[in-house]
Amino acid sequence: MDEQTAKTRIQELSQLLKQYNQQYYDQDNPSVTDDAYDMLLRELETLEQEFPHLAAPDSPTKHVGGTASRIFEKVPHTIQMMSLQDVFSYEEMDSFVQRCQEALGSPRFVAEPKIDGLSVSLEYQNGFFVRGSTRGDGFVGEDVTANLMTIAAIPKQLKNPPPFLEVRGEVYMPRKSFADLVEQQVQNGETPAKNPRNAAAGSLRQKNAAVTARRHLDIWIFNIQQVEGVTLHSHIESLTYLESLGFSNVIPHSGVCTTAEQIRTEIARIGEARTGYAYDTDGVVVKLDDFAHREEMGATSKVPKWAAAFKFPPEEKETILREIILSVGRTGVITPVAVFDPVQLAGTEVSRATLHNQDFMTERDICLGDKIVVRKAGEIIPEVLRVAEHAEGAVPYTLPDCCPVCGSKAVRDEGEAALRCPNPDCPAQLTKRMIHFVSKDAMNIDGLGPQILTALQEKGLVHSVTDLYQLSSAQIVEMERFAEKSAENLIRAIEVSKSQPLDRLIYALGIRGIGTQAAKLLCEKFHTMEALLSASAEEIQTIDGFGATMAESVVSSLAEPHMQQMISRLKEAGCQMTYAGISVEDARFSGMTFVLTGTLPSMKRSEAKELVLKYGGKVSSSVSKKTTYVVAGEAAGSKLEKAYELGIPVLTEEEFRDLLQN
Ligand code: NAD
Repeated sequence: MDEQTAKTRIQELSQLLKQYNQQYYDQDNPSVTDDAYDMLLRELETLEQEFPHLAAPDSPTKHVGGTASRIFEKVPHTIQMMSLQDVFSYEEMDSFVQRCQEALGSPRFVAEPKIDGLSVSLEYQNGFFVRGSTRGDGFVGEDVTANLMTIAAIPKQLKNPPPFLEVRGEVYMPRKSFADLVEQQVQNGETPAKNPRNAAAGSLRQKNAAVTARRHLDIWIFNIQQVEGVTLHSHIESLTYLESLGFSNVIPHSGVCTTAEQIRTEIARIGEARTGYAYDTDGVVVKLDDFAHREEMGATSKVPKWAAAFKFPPEEKETILREIILSVGRTGVITPVAVFDPVQLAGTEVSRATLHNQDFMTERDICLGDKIVVRKAGEIIPEVLRVAEHAEGAVPYTLPDCCPVCGSKAVRDEGEAALRCPNPDCPAQLTKRMIHFVSKDAMNIDGLGPQILTALQEKGLVHSVTDLYQLSSAQIVEMERFAEKSAENLIRAIEVSKSQPLDRLIYALGIRGIGTQAAKLLCEKFHTMEALLSASAEEIQTIDGFGATMAESVVSSLAEPHMQQMISRLKEAGCQMTYAGISVEDARFSGMTFVLTGTLPSMKRSEAKELVLKYGGKVSSSVSKKTTYVVAGEAAGSKLEKAYELGIPVLTEEEFRDLLQN
């Protein structure tokens, strides 16, 4: 390549990578795959090696991509939080091993899974967890202490601690939590998170720690950044030391490897095992074990020269798109779903993936019969990446202009990508609305599954959600698989649901964008359904976390005639229309579970329990991984031991009181 062409390409690549860095690190919302990003970065690295004088000082090859947001206090890192040099083949890994051997003789290496999350630093003063921060640009990060406090696996107090300790770990969202989050977001009509890594970053960088607590994040600790009063000589020694301090989630490692062959075996082993892990991994990190060797190898401005990250290639499969089916959601959104020849991905058979909307299909030029490339986002959610080859005579797919179920003319709201069926009486919408209405987080009516709801609809017994409250056991007993007793039980469950609190009822209405937490916040602000019905978008927007779109969505949904009719019939049926909950400032323990044990110095355990409940938390009698804090007094026995074993933070009464005050 001649110099002028190289110069232009270097500029193009730098600009593009900076834009992607911003989307990925600062907005937690990438627009390209990691693989695509990695290939562009590699192209830039190669060009800069060939033309070193063209490499700008602020090139993405020389700096960690993130910045510290202004929402949080800034934390300067006394020890730089570096990135890692990526390698994409065994040959490249062999070269890294060879470079180390040429410089050091026969060094020891350690291999570890590369956790796909976000890097954090945790600081301990005299054994107490005092501050936690994100990596930011590697020199200055964001103070996210309150949010990290909600992660049970981070010990809040260490055993036999040194005076000062800083460790580095990777916060991640377990696959199960990610699947739950996406399901909830889809149910609430929100844009689902793209992958567990971005969901973890978005969850940790929240202003409200209660939101972080509900996302069930976890952590692996993988390095000691600095420690006072203790001399450590190697990585393996430092990981064992961390375990002795009470860190329960210390990264698993391979043990010592000395040859490129052994390292290849470890990479292959982790590569095979990773689909069975409860979390995402995007590679294997190979590091020198001996700290003196690390010192000798040194670092660039961005990465240490004593480590390399082997990146796994993305698992993609080609298949044939056979059919596009249309699904109508509870808010009327018509979603095209791709049906393709089944393929094995991340351990399961996959044959369907959402195509989102017309724009998504147009951008990818998707036609029936095409050979398409599919993969699983975050190794969980199937997605169509691109068309590999068009079918012969293929014609781009266009969504019909009417609802596939009721035939009403479909609409596309301004600024929205989705096509919608505007008919509130559309049978497909009604089924989905009822499924949502009776679901666990809404009115929680046990025994009313999708099959029964559809059957009730088909028999003409329900034409709207509120008809559920008019059902009699005589009608139910007529249905298949119901006897007198089970019919009576169902009617009782429907009756009991009338006393569900107002926030659940608001969530059950299925207003677009209103999840369980938003419904609670609306109740905190307006207290009664009547007040909410007459609230303006401006008033709703004064609630922390409610933007203009969400506020407008509440006002316009509640103004719809079918919604007004539904609310007045729910009122007539005897559902709760007044809120009796706690105020939002007081819900500081929401999503947290406490275990109280031993004799507290000045407070009865029953008093502590009342305080936890008052502030929205739960009290449990046994310690498990789900416990957020154990509050322990004198003569605390097996529960305290269990807390240490599981790495659950233990608080004294004084620390518990501090938590109440902060
Ligand atoms: P990286 O993620 O490739 O590697 C460095 C990170 O690995 C460290 O910060 C560390 O926290 C983490 N890590 C996990 N397990 C570890 C272990 N066992 N030992 C040591 N470290 C471990 O580098 P990065 O700078 O954080 O991010 C760059 C990568 O992020 C890119 O390669 C790309 O895949 C992705 N990215 C994607 C986009 C996009 O638009 N899709 C944009 C920017 C970055």
